[in-house]
Amino acid sequence: MSDKLKISISGVRGIIGEGLNGQMVLNLAAAFGQSLNGGPVIVGRDARPTGPQMRLAVLAGLAFSGNDAIDIGLAPTPTVGLMVNQLGAAGGIQISASHNPVQWNALKFFNREGFFLNQEDFERFMAFYEKGDFGNATWDRLGKVTERDDAIDIHIDRVLNFVDVEVCRSRKLKVVVDGCRSVGGLILPPLLAKLGCEVIRLDCEADGQFTRPLEPTPAHLGALCAKVKETGAEVGFAADPDADRLAMVSEKGEPLGEDFSLALAADYIAGKTGSDIVTNLSTTMALDDIARKHGVKLYRTKVGEAHVVEGILKHGVKIGGEGNGGVIVPEVHPGRDAATGVAVICELLATKGKGKTISEVASEIPLYHIVKDKVPAREHEEGPIAEALCEKFGEPVFDRTEGLKLIWPDAWVHLRPSNTEPIIRIIAEAKSPEKAKEICSFTRSQLE
Ligand code: MG
Repeated sequence: MSDKLKISISGVRGIIGEGLNGQMVLNLAAAFGQSLNGGPVIVGRDARPTGPQMRLAVLAGLAFSGNDAIDIGLAPTPTVGLMVNQLGAAGGIQISASHNPVQWNALKFFNREGFFLNQEDFERFMAFYEKGDFGNATWDRLGKVTERDDAIDIHIDRVLNFVDVEVCRSRKLKVVVDGCRSVGGLILPPLLAKLGCEVIRLDCEADGQFTRPLEPTPAHLGALCAKVKETGAEVGFAADPDADRLAMVSEKGEPLGEDFSLALAADYIAGKTGSDIVTNLSTTMALDDIARKHGVKLYRTKVGEAHVVEGILKHGVKIGGEGNGGVIVPEVHPGRDAATGVAVICELLATKGKGKTISEVASEIPLYHIVKDKVPAREHEEGPIAEALCEKFGEPVFDRTEGLKLIWPDAWVHLRPSNTEPIIRIIAEAKSPEKAKEICSFTRSQLE
């Protein structure tokens, strides 16, 4: 596979005109439609500049495979899944390359339950694509397109049904929203306004004219930090371009780190409901401490939203997600959702955080330091790397659920090939940033 095209269970991503082109997009949509055996497909997109052209190819592919399309327009990724469920559709396609740079775009596929495809669904769909068995609906069976403009309102209503709106309103938070010039700007401000917040907008025009690197990591949130300080807001919320990931900035204008989004939400919901928690292998050990504090279990799955969602449904938990800012409350929708995250944080600040700043609330979460690195994908032997790490840092517990994870009493390292980019990810966590860096860079040196 070229480094400009990535086909995986997470979807099909590529650089437009280099790895991914209009004909492929049309064929993929047609093959997906064919694999569904009829029924309407929900189609949405984030605000990237290539979205309108991608949309035309997707709608054409679905039409020629005989599937009706319900085009919900600009929408967060979780909104597409939620609308599949809401309307009883046969599947969904979101046009978004999430945090990949602007020249990328991608298709993400949802099954009839509104979840990302599992391995079996994905292989079935790919078999249609590879055989070229699609797009042959006869003239009287072509699919039709209808447009709806109420999807974001439906999504907001579901979130409002989950949280205690009156309690949230009592806090009257002053917040800044960094919409990343995409769909987060369409859902977060109206939702927060309904929760009684005074909302200051930053980059909330959903026009794809990106002003910052797209991952909502601390280094990219300078403008939000400045805006929070300048306006005296109590918290800043930032989304990625498809608004499934949430990051926060404290009232001091300092990024909390993406891990805090799930840690705070999980601490609050596990405390309130006694629910167990599900997360992936690469998420902070603070969640182990939080689970212990509330006497609940923490389940860890392979990395990737589909795996986490599968774990959430299997264990019947009320809260789960990923350390990259992906908060999942299955009662709203079993998928990562920045909108759900901000609403839970509002309720938290209005209840157990009453009278406290977000920094004070965050300081109650055990602090670890995560260091992430990546190297270009390459063949590598895990055995010698594990041996070198044991020799340097002591005997760990091994977890080989996915890639290689070594866990020490107060640190861990996880290396695995990315599902979405042609790279190997290295993630290390420890009580001090120096230790995390040391483990991470030593692991990297073993890959070079
Ligand atoms: Mg995303």
